[in-house]
Amino acid sequence: MNIGFIGLGNMGLPMAINLLKAGYQVAGFDLVQSQLDAFAKAGGKTVANANDAAKNVDVLISMLPASQHVEGLYLGDSGLLANTNPQTILVDCSTISPKMAQAVASAAQAKGFEMVDAPVSGGTAGAQAGTLTFMVGGQQSAVERIRPLLEKMGKNIFHAGANGAGQTVKVCNNMLLGIQMLGTCEALRLGIANGMDPKILSDIMSKSSGRNWALELYNPCPGVMDNVPSSKDYAGGFGVDLMLKDMGLATENAEALEASVPLGKLAQQLYEAHSKAGHGQLDFSSVFNLK
Ligand code: NAD
Repeated sequence: MNIGFIGLGNMGLPMAINLLKAGYQVAGFDLVQSQLDAFAKAGGKTVANANDAAKNVDVLISMLPASQHVEGLYLGDSGLLANTNPQTILVDCSTISPKMAQAVASAAQAKGFEMVDAPVSGGTAGAQAGTLTFMVGGQQSAVERIRPLLEKMGKNIFHAGANGAGQTVKVCNNMLLGIQMLGTCEALRLGIANGMDPKILSDIMSKSSGRNWALELYNPCPGVMDNVPSSKDYAGGFGVDLMLKDMGLATENAEALEASVPLGKLAQQLYEAHSKAGHGQLDFSSVFNLK
């Protein structure tokens, strides 16, 4: 199977490298030269533009920052849908709005393509280790055809439902993650204000009813855990601005459906304040330092 891979960033690069390691031929493209160089260094073939990445491949994967990038890549006269053989299965792994995922998939289907939305969870560490969770929206037949490929990049592959359903699950998951991180920071701060050692506090809460992913695996308080962003000056990981983007997707989606998400809205405001204070590029657990 030949693969095209567009978007070799923090997530896309290690995902594409895992496909190379599994023996697939992968043609990679990114707008940034250093990312192309890193892919070439890992043994990948690089191409000059997105349309070349999609030429003569069985599956085309995209991993771009946000909705507008995905719209620009696929739609319009110079977009992939106008310039690619419809036999190619299209897999968009970017986190974008469910609405945009549905719009691009229905334009693709009108031209005879099979397309799925397949956003991921598991961060850059999961992308490197090949242990991502994929949340896939689209037709069962397309999902089953790409499953072996996704299994080279991830451990859990879920078919969530029709096109857009993968993005809906991702939006719900990340809204919960953002809220959960803020709650965890607040609880740790309160304990510390009472003179508690944050490690003892975390160990006890991790075995009590307040246990959660942020507390147990991604502790936001520096020094409690090794190998998490909080113990590396909040470098790497999942940026505040990406979390803010996902909070925006959640609240926009909720507004359109008149669904009530008061905690999601408050969390969005808090991440926004933290980003505006100049911390947008730090890992989102740095919200521990929000005053
Ligand atoms: P990133 O900014 O590191 O990578 C995106 C890459 O896309 C960049 O290298 C950029 O140059 C490239 N790009 C943008 N437009 C392009 C185009 N038209 N053609 C070719 N390349 C283009 O972002 P990332 O951290 O890799 O995240 C990618 C997506 O995955 C986002 O939607 C993000 O929300 C999601 N995600 C990220 C994480 C994480 O921990 N970083 C976890 C889960 C999901």
